Amino acid sequence: MIQHTSKLPNVGTTIFTVMSQLAAKENAINLSQGFPNFPSDPKLIGMVQQALRENYNQYAPMPGASILREAIAEKMELLYQRVYNPDTEIVVTAGATQAIFTIISAFIRPKDEVIIFTPAYDCYAPAIETHGGKVVPIQLRGKEFSVDWDEVRSKISSKTKMLIINTPHNPSGTVLSEDDMRELSIILENTDIILLSDEVYEHIIFDGVPHQSAALHPKLAERAFITASFGKTFHNTGWKIGYCVAPKPLMEEFKKVHQFNVFSVNHPMQIGIGKYLKTPKHYMELPAFFQQKRDYFLDKIKDSRFTWKPSQGTYFQVLSYENITDEYDVDFAKRLTRTHKIASIPLSVFNAQKENHQLLRFCFAKTEETLAAAANILNTI
Ligand code: PMP
Ligand code: GLN
Repeated sequence: MIQHTSKLPNVGTTIFTVMSQLAAKENAINLSQGFPNFPSDPKLIGMVQQALRENYNQYAPMPGASILREAIAEKMELLYQRVYNPDTEIVVTAGATQAIFTIISAFIRPKDEVIIFTPAYDCYAPAIETHGGKVVPIQLRGKEFSVDWDEVRSKISSKTKMLIINTPHNPSGTVLSEDDMRELSIILENTDIILLSDEVYEHIIFDGVPHQSAALHPKLAERAFITASFGKTFHNTGWKIGYCVAPKPLMEEFKKVHQFNVFSVNHPMQIGIGKYLKTPKHYMELPAFFQQKRDYFLDKIKDSRFTWKPSQGTYFQVLSYENITDEYDVDFAKRLTRTHKIASIPLSVFNAQKENHQLLRFCFAKTEETLAAAANILNTI
């Protein structure tokens, strides 16, 4: 065997793979990894099929098919009143994961510091560390998972290159408020810190609360990459198409890496999604669609021993099991999968020191039949 030193010595297999594999092996209901178990709109499938037949089967333009970049620009203007130039400020990517990795790759040098909020989606830290950057975690506070902005102020140093936010937030299901965004604007003003705003759940937000895109806040937008995922938006996580937007000077650096990272992404999918995205109804109806699922699930488990605050966004509901057992959340999640045949995601894996707060995340992007069957199990625990 040749000798090598791992760049990521502490990274194992992601919890999403671990729990989905365990769910399959144990024949358990899988509410762990976040993906819908219902199909995409047949209209969208038809548009992709048409693109395949019309022979959009060679390389797409490097930044993405123009029909899709134009539709993204229209959507950003409609929803957030910000104009992004489709030729210079929008790039289509292989899911948000690639966008995030490429952004970090384009800007993070060894010893640069990147602030992330924990529990954090699991692709941020390894991407930072692969490039020799230093992760500076800030724990979200209490059951509300709120940001302590004074702590943010105290963690910013001359080495801080980037700060990553995620609203609606995976895994907690909380959202940042307008006040949060105002605080962040003030903190970042007069710095050269790049903001990475991961907004893959922008259309999955509940109770009439508006999504706080970085695009809505001029002082943030001028320094922000915003990442998005059509997998999340249009119920096809397996297609792996997403995008990012940013002001031209930042996007120019992004493209330098993107062109050698993937060059371009799946062409027929881009054409199909581009046509579909032209109709705002296709994303405007998503909050109500998912809110109905959240409410259905929570109503079905209202007499269980789990406790919760209703998810404010994402298609995840966090449940506390503090009234049930003192077990470590990873052990409890595995035991529930093996013994009770229901799989979830333990939150500790997203914390810097793997702190356990007795919380599990359940994905409610499922049919009512699946949610009812899951609730029947949860009610017996
Ligand atoms: N960010 C967050 C917060 C996510 O939950 C996910 C998973 N959808 C991603 C990024 C990655 O998105 P994609 O599947 O499009 O790569
Ligand atoms: N974003 C999905 C989740 O949070 C998982 C994506 C993945 O498996 N990498 O469950």
